[in-house]
Amino acid sequence: MYRYETHLHTVESSACGVTPGSEYPAIFKSRGYDGIFITDHFFHGNTRPSRELPWPEYVDAYTKGYEEAKKAGDAIGFKVFFGIEENFSGDEYLIYGVDKAFLLAHPDIPHWTREEMISWVHAAGGAVIQAHPFRDRPYIKMIHLHPEGIEGIEGINTANTANDNLAALCYALRHHLLIQAGSDTHDKAKIGEMNGGILCEQPITSSRDYAARLRSGEKPRIFYPEALFADMPGVQVHLPAEICRDNRWEPLPTEEIMNWIAAAGAQAGEAGNQPEGIVRQIITRLGA
Ligand SMILES: [Zn+2]
Ligand SMILES: [Zn+2]
Repeated sequence: MYRYETHLHTVESSACGVTPGSEYPAIFKSRGYDGIFITDHFFHGNTRPSRELPWPEYVDAYTKGYEEAKKAGDAIGFKVFFGIEENFSGDEYLIYGVDKAFLLAHPDIPHWTREEMISWVHAAGGAVIQAHPFRDRPYIKMIHLHPEGIEGIEGINTANTANDNLAALCYALRHHLLIQAGSDTHDKAKIGEMNGGILCEQPITSSRDYAARLRSGEKPRIFYPEALFADMPGVQVHLPAEICRDNRWEPLPTEEIMNWIAAAGAQAGEAGNQPEGIVRQIITRLGA
């Protein structure tokens, strides 16, 4: 099995990034990974470059973290792939399979909607994964779930709480969504045994290759630290939520989400007595 990190930020291109892109390849290589995706915060998220820059200059600055990582990866024979993390109203999306030329060819990106993002990325052969859909942090005022049009969701983000990950997994189970895992690392000091990622039987050859696999419904296997879910009380959802159905946003009552969670627990049967057991059952059911 080949091991990959799907979600990483650099100091060059994410405002909240701490570690230079050039430092990641050696660290991940030494930990037995076969490649990493750099997914810096893009134009509507916590991006590092000024949004005042002319578009080509913004794109140059935005791709810097990836380019530094790629150079360092090439030097030691380690795969570094390009990805993006874009934000709308606190809901964030990981994009794979596009490149700098795609960004330069779309100067209207500063005005794109979620639907335009999905259709432009698909037209370019890319894929879209909603990141950490149930994240509960001060910068997020409402949960926005967009199951339509995307390839899947981040079922486990190891920078998230166990609570928010388990809610995401129950959402994936209810909506038959493909899942991936990632660490959302911003700082090399956080790389360790508590990280998650994906495992593939065949090596990933490019970001486009990974996107094509997601588009074809190939489910990546995921890995994550089981300890993440130890000693967890029942799942809670505090933020209000909306879901996009048939292209329209509608309120999603907390009660409905709690029903998905209860159903996942009931399906897990005996294993449902412990959160780790529910998580394992959901992941098996999702084929991940
Ligand atoms: Zn960040
Ligand atoms: Zn992120």
